[in-house]
Amino acid sequence: MKTAIGVDLGGSHVTAAVVTEAGEIRVQHEHDITDRSFEAVVTETAAVIEKSLGDAGKEVVGIGIGSPGNVDPATGTVRYSPNFGWHDAPLGQRLRARFPVPVFVGNDARCATLGEYEFGIGRGTGTFVLLTLGTGIGGGIVAEGRLVLGVGFGAGEIGHHQIRPTDGFVCGCGKIGCFEAQASGTGLIRHAFALAPSFPRSALLDLPRAKLGSKKIRRAAEAGDPHAAAAWKRYADDLAAGLANVVAFLNPDVIALGGGVASAGAFLLDAVRPLVEERTTMAPRGSTRIEIARLGNDAGQVGAAVMAMHGGLRAGAQTAAA
Ligand SMILES: [Zn+2]
Repeated sequence: MKTAIGVDLGGSHVTAAVVTEAGEIRVQHEHDITDRSFEAVVTETAAVIEKSLGDAGKEVVGIGIGSPGNVDPATGTVRYSPNFGWHDAPLGQRLRARFPVPVFVGNDARCATLGEYEFGIGRGTGTFVLLTLGTGIGGGIVAEGRLVLGVGFGAGEIGHHQIRPTDGFVCGCGKIGCFEAQASGTGLIRHAFALAPSFPRSALLDLPRAKLGSKKIRRAAEAGDPHAAAAWKRYADDLAAGLANVVAFLNPDVIALGGGVASAGAFLLDAVRPLVEERTTMAPRGSTRIEIARLGNDAGQVGAAVMAMHGGLRAGAQTAAA
C-alpha cells in the first residue's frame, strides 16, 4: 500500500508519521524543538523524516509538512511565522534538497483540516470547517470539496475575526476581542481571571498562572463550582458567537471542534449548540452540525501526508471530491 510521511511542525516539538493511503498511521517519531531558529528546526525536521523514511520502505510517495504561519504551498516557503519568528524561510526548498521524494509544505491548521476532511469527522461532507481550540484557535475551510487557501494563503484564519472589538481581550495579533482571544483554551482561563473579583472566596485560580490549564476550569465547571461555571458560560457565549458567524458565512455541513477544550466532548457541545441555534438567523437552524473532531493530535500529520499523496495542498480536497 502507498504511504506518505506526514510531518506536524509545532513550537515545542516536531512529529512525523508514516501514513497509508487509507489514512492509517503506521509509525510515529517525535523530536523536541528547543531552538526555534530556522537552521535548528530544519535539522530536527530532517531527522524525524529520516527515521520515518527508514521505516516506510520503498512505497513512500512523498513528504508533507504542516508548518505554523503563512505558507506559500507552491514553493514551500514560510512567508511569515510569529511562532518561530521567521520571514520568508525556504523550508520546502531546504528539505527538497535532502530527500529523494517530493516534499510539500502547507500551513499546519490547513493540513489538519484536510486530515479531518478526508479521514475524520469531515469525511463525506461537502463544506467543512475545522476549529482547533487550544492555546489559540487554528482553522481551515473546505468549501464544496475544495480546500480554500485564499489569494495570499490567509484563508481559514477564523481565529482572528473579531467578536468583541470594544470589550474583549487583547489578541496575540494585536486586535481586541478576536475569536481566538475569547474562545481558545487560553480564552477560558482569561474569562476566569476577568470574573475573579465577583468570586472573592473562590480557590479556582490558586495556582501559578503558568500551571493553570483550561481543563482545570472546565472540570470545575462540570463539578458545579460557581466561579468556573460563570467563566464557562461566558466562554460558551463567545464560542457560539464565532460559530454562528461561520454558519452565516458558509453554512457548512459540519463544524468540527478539536484541540484541548474539545476533550470536554458532550459538555462542550451541550453548552454551545443551543446558543449557536439562537444566533442562526438566515440559514435553516440545525442544518450545520457542530461535532467533536476525531483525529485529535494526529490530524496534522495525517493531513500533511494527504497533501503529499495528492501532490500539494491545493489539489488535495479537490482530488478527494472528484
Ligand atoms: Zn487576533
